Amino acid sequence: VRREIRGELRRLLESDDGVIEASEAYEHDATEHQSFRGRPDAVVAPASPEEVAAVIRWCYEREVPLVPRGGGTGFAGGAVPVDGGVVVSSERLRRIRQFEPQRWRAHVEAGLKTHELQRLARENGVYFPPDPGASEQSHIGGNIACNAGGPHAFKYGVTGAWVTGLEAVVPPGDVVTLGRGLTKDVAGLDLKSLLIGSEGTLGFITAAWLRLIPAPEYQLPVMALFEDVGTGCEAIDAILGSGVRAAALEYLDERTVEIAGAAYPPLAAGGPGFAVIAEADGSADEAARIRKELLEVLAPAARWTQAPTDRAEIRELWRWRDGVSIAVAAQLGGKVSEDVAVPLDVLPQLIEATVSIGAAHGLDACSWGHGGDGNLHATFMLDRGDPESLTRSRAASEDLFELAISVGGTISGEHGVGFVKRPYLERQVGPLAFERMQAVRQVFDPKGLMNSGKAL
Ligand SMILES: Cc1cc2nc3c(=O)[nH]c(=O)nc-3n(C[C@H](O)[C@H](O)[C@H](O)COP(=O)(O)OP(=O)(O)OC[C@H]3O[C@@H](n4cnc5c(N)ncnc54)[C@H](O)[C@@H]3O)c2cc1C
Repeated sequence: VRREIRGELRRLLESDDGVIEASEAYEHDATEHQSFRGRPDAVVAPASPEEVAAVIRWCYEREVPLVPRGGGTGFAGGAVPVDGGVVVSSERLRRIRQFEPQRWRAHVEAGLKTHELQRLARENGVYFPPDPGASEQSHIGGNIACNAGGPHAFKYGVTGAWVTGLEAVVPPGDVVTLGRGLTKDVAGLDLKSLLIGSEGTLGFITAAWLRLIPAPEYQLPVMALFEDVGTGCEAIDAILGSGVRAAALEYLDERTVEIAGAAYPPLAAGGPGFAVIAEADGSADEAARIRKELLEVLAPAARWTQAPTDRAEIRELWRWRDGVSIAVAAQLGGKVSEDVAVPLDVLPQLIEATVSIGAAHGLDACSWGHGGDGNLHATFMLDRGDPESLTRSRAASEDLFELAISVGGTISGEHGVGFVKRPYLERQVGPLAFERMQAVRQVFDPKGLMNSGKAL
């Protein structure tokens, strides 16, 4: 059957590169430590919206499930073909259709890598702020489908805040345009916003109109180490309360600093503790003023501070911060990272609970994340030599989700629901909202073939 499907799909696509030979890479995403895998019946990489439409139409007529895929860096199992089907990859939809830095906008195809757009913007004096961690692999379409965040979402908002329009293919195979490169547009229902964060369940995003802004001249981080979670979270609160506008407000708990700190010598010299990273941005004067104010707020309770101004040192700090996830995974050989977000008043409670929930299930645990957004990357480490640790981590995640929901938080601040968190969504939003979500899905995808078994 697989060979037949591939043969049929090959006929729909112009280039021989359109159907990708079986490759292990398309069987998983960044949840691979959790052993989420699937076997696709075929992997296709259409090169135009019309080719995407042809594939979706073909699959829809034959009731073959479809799994949209970007860079495969998702942390929710969303791009994993758990029930087989046709994986539709955006990797050949890579054109920059229009780039207008002077008008602060870009029109790009879904398969453009996040860092490619960030770099293009930077080189032209403008800024695309969404900065999810795996930007060298993730695609703009994947970022939009997950409504991805990142450190700078604290000041600038998540990916969806930068999308003014989408082109997508929706079942049974229609190319639709939802919004455009307009600054303002309030005509009709905002369907574009339904597709943002829909995790491939409503359609396949082929291109997006994105907003840009003039690039801040300077980005100056400030890092501080505190005695414990309590004093560290008080410092986060103090920054918010001071009215100083930080561009990013990150934290790393004590265990994370212990594991990842060694790879960043300035921090290792500061010793153990709970770390807070804030960033000042703006023109030279503005960034310098905010940096000074951030230091004034953080320093009194801190054991150690560092505020690099040299560009290479700043790059080094963020490069290290980007690698924290990998350093923690390397500790025992694997990890499960959840991304609950909670109201800021209970952030210290959740940071402490992550460690105690881990301990209750016999797991080494830690967290880091976007403190100013109340968004934790609550992590349970998996021991390669202890296969049972995976089963225990699932129970630990369940306890974590229950706690997050009970304090008015969410099971996902930025990674999405995917396959991993699907059992918990209804508990969070309640049956009435959940029913409406399913009804919307039904309108877009009456046969339930778009990423079936995911998100809802
Ligand atoms: C080291 C590391 C750090 C990370 N840091 C962050 C972070 O700071 N913030 C954050 O938010 N995330 C982070 N992530 C998670 C991940 O990078 C983001 O969720 C990213 O947006 C996923 O993009 P992708 O292109 O890899 O999507 P994929 O993993 O390929 O897909 C993700 C979901 O989107 C759907 N999808 C993909 N493309 C399309 C499309 N064209 N149309 C419709 N649906 C589509 C898929 O079906 C799936 O459900 C991190 C991941 C890693 C590995």
